[in-house]
Amino acid sequence: SDARLSDYERLSVLGHGNGGTVYKARHRRSAQPVALKLFADGDTSAAREAEILMLAADAPHVVRLHAVIPSSASAVAAGEAPTALALELMPGGSLSGLLRRLGRPMGEQPIAAVARQALLGLAALHALRVVHRDLKPSNLLVGAGGEVKIADFGAGKVLRRRLDPCASYVGTAAYMSPERFDPEAYSGDYDPYAADVWSLGVAILELYRGHFPLLPEGQRPDWAALMCAICFGEAPEPPAAASEEFRDFVARCLEKKAGRRASVAELLEHPFVAERDAAGAQHALAALVAEAEQRDQ
Ligand code: ATP
Ligand code: MG
Repeated sequence: SDARLSDYERLSVLGHGNGGTVYKARHRRSAQPVALKLFADGDTSAAREAEILMLAADAPHVVRLHAVIPSSASAVAAGEAPTALALELMPGGSLSGLLRRLGRPMGEQPIAAVARQALLGLAALHALRVVHRDLKPSNLLVGAGGEVKIADFGAGKVLRRRLDPCASYVGTAAYMSPERFDPEAYSGDYDPYAADVWSLGVAILELYRGHFPLLPEGQRPDWAALMCAICFGEAPEPPAAASEEFRDFVARCLEKKAGRRASVAELLEHPFVAERDAAGAQHALAALVAEAEQRDQ
């Protein structure tokens, strides 16, 4: 790739993360809109993210990688870490942004669209032996038509061997499953894929509640409080007002014992997503994206 940073015109800031800043940008020659993710110098997560996105180039519900932009031509030759990634622009932004812009929790119908599409993305990634390890609303992106794609593979990993514990503290502690805090207790049959299912469950419950569901609303998620809540607390659940299907779906994701947690394949068959008009659910999500856009104006 001979892409350069100067090939892109930066238009606005889409988001800030640990890694760096993501800009809305335009490829000058083709006028193609992109999300330009800039990394700090020497950030090794850039190379990891690029590697995984290339591996998952055909995976559904995973954000597309348009170009890898090295810091300089000599850096490419030396195989150094890239400086920026040009990603498919998702006009609805992240689900955390959508929740904030709406100013209210999301209903079951649009949440089912999120769950179904995120599960399809996870199924494809897991089939490639890729674990995401940092699923959360800010890493799930939406298109104007209610499409959902998994993004931000800065904490992702390709499992080279069959049983790789891969329980290191990467990703955001808030969405980490109990077994990731205590890998020793699970070393025999640690299932790295099950951790992504837990995170998805927390994310989905957050969309329904309108705030991070493991701590009382407004409490700062410091590491000790989180570890206590995740490892020693009861798994959080949707309120009684939620449908039986939704309550069960979340309970199957937030099974504290990893071995008893539902697999991605099982969740795709769950009535909450399987017995629902998928197109209708996606429309409901698209309507929320449109509503958020109107509020911005
Ligand atoms: P963090 O460490 O906080 O998870 P990060 O530095 O790894 O973040 P990303 O999660 O990739 O960066 O992106 C940060 C934010 O930028 C996202 O939450 C989202 O709001 C926005 N963003 C990222 N990629 C895109 C995209 N392709 N289209 C639209 N918005 C995007
Ligand atoms: Mg992120």
